[in-house]
Amino acid sequence: MAFINHSVENKKSNNRNKVFRFIIGKGKTSHREISNELNLSMPTVLASTKELFSLGLIQDEGLFDSTGGRKARILVPNPSARFSIGVDITANHISFVLVNMIGETIGLTRILSSYYNKPEYYKNIGDLLRDFINRQKFPKELLLGVGVSIPGIIDEAGKYITDSHALKIRNLPCSIFSSAIPYTCCFINDANAASLAEINANHKGKLMVYLSLSDSVGGAIIMNKSIYLGDNQRSGEFGHVCLVPDGKPCYCGKLGCFDAYCSALVLEEFGQGELEIFFKNVKKGDETCKFTLNQYLDNLAIAIKNIRMAFDCDVIVGGYVGGFLDAYIDDLRARVSRLNTFDDDGRFIHPCTYKYEASAVGAAIQHIKAFVQTV
Ligand SMILES: [Zn+2]
Repeated sequence: MAFINHSVENKKSNNRNKVFRFIIGKGKTSHREISNELNLSMPTVLASTKELFSLGLIQDEGLFDSTGGRKARILVPNPSARFSIGVDITANHISFVLVNMIGETIGLTRILSSYYNKPEYYKNIGDLLRDFINRQKFPKELLLGVGVSIPGIIDEAGKYITDSHALKIRNLPCSIFSSAIPYTCCFINDANAASLAEINANHKGKLMVYLSLSDSVGGAIIMNKSIYLGDNQRSGEFGHVCLVPDGKPCYCGKLGCFDAYCSALVLEEFGQGELEIFFKNVKKGDETCKFTLNQYLDNLAIAIKNIRMAFDCDVIVGGYVGGFLDAYIDDLRARVSRLNTFDDDGRFIHPCTYKYEASAVGAAIQHIKAFVQTV
């Protein structure tokens, strides 16, 4: 029987994993930087990158400009090493995205399809997914799996949707959604998924709150590059924080929730159901749309002020509406500053990085993250 030294093997694969995660995190690096930052000897780094090259996980992108001495090779992750698909389920539509190894969206589609809890609906998800995959140009054998984003609370094990007011379901097994999907599936709450996409884009690792302003309002609290879920997986449900006591009815059945004032639907109502049309109308000077946006930003400012008071950290404004707020971010910052007890400016407020289909992207990224751990 051949003798295998497991401790040497484990050490080798641990180093390879460390090096790979470093390269993924940096996006672009050199052998010298890896060696310095990870405190690994140069021969160890070279052995690890040799393996990563042979596995097709990293590639060479030429040479860095010389800082004296020999020019260093530029090491980058191979974006086409693996792929993952994200599916975002909402009450009114289903979105599909294809992302590559570095989280770039390389294909997407959104289909109007109202949710109903019947076998035909779930079969349709499988049919739409197959059509989507067939239209994408990528080596199908490199697909890691499908991540599904759901507007509701998912239990800790990721097996049950315990509550979704948006889809009007309770205690439904997640597997019903993947019954027609012939790939490994995982499930995630929509706002948590969107924040995962944001974590992927911002590798700083500091505490931040992601506010998801989509057809429903949600959010996520990000600590140490992961999501703080709470005792019942219900943290960051900012949509149901009370904004106006006894105010407008919320879809959850209560009155005056933040969601009733700041979901994307509030604006879409004046844009023929589309945010793009709404914001075009604002630019054209449509008085009703301008008035609606003004009220919307005032309400959003109150919610952001309260989040800042509770968490004292950066706030990322995301979701469908967040994708359109770049042009209004200074205005929003000024409104929050006027309400804020401690800050003189609103520099802690940031527009989201993923402007479109962030929830689907985040759902897909789960498979990429899991794969990176196995390298
Ligand atoms: Zn509510």
